[in-house]
Amino acid sequence: MAERAYFDWNAAAPLREPARAAMVAALGLTGNASSVHGEGRAARRLIEDARAQVASLVGADAKDVTFTSGATEANMLALHTSLGDRLFVSAVEHPSVRSGGRFPAELVEELPVDGDGVVDLHALRSAIARAERPLTSVMLANNETGVIQSIAKIANIVHAANGLLHVDAVQGPGRLDCDIKTLGADLLSISAHKLGGPQGVGALIRRGDIHIGEPLIRGGGQERGLRAGTENVAAIAGFGAACAAAAATWRSDAIRMAVLRDRLEAGIKAALPQAVIFAPGAPRLPNTTLFAVPGFKAETTIIAFDLNGIAVSSGSACSSGKVQASHVLAAMGVESELARGALRVSLGWSTSDADVENLLNALTKVSSSLLKRHENSRLNSGLAA
Ligand code: PMP
Repeated sequence: MAERAYFDWNAAAPLREPARAAMVAALGLTGNASSVHGEGRAARRLIEDARAQVASLVGADAKDVTFTSGATEANMLALHTSLGDRLFVSAVEHPSVRSGGRFPAELVEELPVDGDGVVDLHALRSAIARAERPLTSVMLANNETGVIQSIAKIANIVHAANGLLHVDAVQGPGRLDCDIKTLGADLLSISAHKLGGPQGVGALIRRGDIHIGEPLIRGGGQERGLRAGTENVAAIAGFGAACAAAAATWRSDAIRMAVLRDRLEAGIKAALPQAVIFAPGAPRLPNTTLFAVPGFKAETTIIAFDLNGIAVSSGSACSSGKVQASHVLAAMGVESELARGALRVSLGWSTSDADVENLLNALTKVSSSLLKRHENSRLNSGLAA
């Protein structure tokens, strides 16, 4: 029996070794980072070292990094009415952005995307012109399709309209350049577990002069008053170490992943010429393929793959378990029957040639039985009709 091959890196990446080591070391400490004694100062040092590592990954100042419980919380912290009079979010955002953060629903407007899931810049320009101080939130790369948005162009449009730009960059680190200045973002959210840190920690990074008027969690004044509560020192230390590792290797990792991803897509098309790979015309992350085979149901296919030692996903992990047609594919105008069959394959720094071979072998194996099943159900429904 072949070893299992994991292809769900956009949902969660494995913990990097330096992150694990930093966490184990931090768990051996006792102090509260707010205490003035030596033990407290040792905990504080770990947090501040990690803050510098996170800041360095995104080209920001350490003082502008606020640790949170993840990107969902970072998005909630950023999307507040103190930063704009209306909120504009793209139709393909993660639910934590699409839900409008701390804006009342009537002040949130959705921005359309084209058939590849790319934000329509003309629609953006005319929509934000209707607000005095528009706050716009567009993701760097989509977690389902891997489509990369033109953030620098969007930033220019937003700034010309007297607005601010928040970027959910969760899927970027380890795969793309995430420098906050190059992107032109005013606020950036990232999450540790997508880049080899632990689950349950993330950060909001601000441009230095941005002032968020209201914290999400009030209390003891930690994180410069922006996020109260005793810090999760071990998770933060692991996050920092993962950022340093990602910063050191992402360029070579990205090149290697793109080669494997291209081989994977060629293999899918060779085995099943009727397969549809989504967003073929847009720039995409080097590690992500979203595809569907007409007649295949996502749940059945995922289970068939799993039984063959292959972990793939139906789209975003947040909505798997209940596989529904994705809002991302709906916004791209993909027909709902095809969208319901969408399978996401996402790779990472340790994905090997053999993993991709295993996936393609499993695809050949599972597709013959799934095609048979599809043909039978078509015949049965034909007979019943
Ligand atoms: N944004 C995007 C694009 C994501 O992929 C995710 C994780 N699925 C989140 C936000 C939420 O991140 P977290 O799990 O850290 O709250």
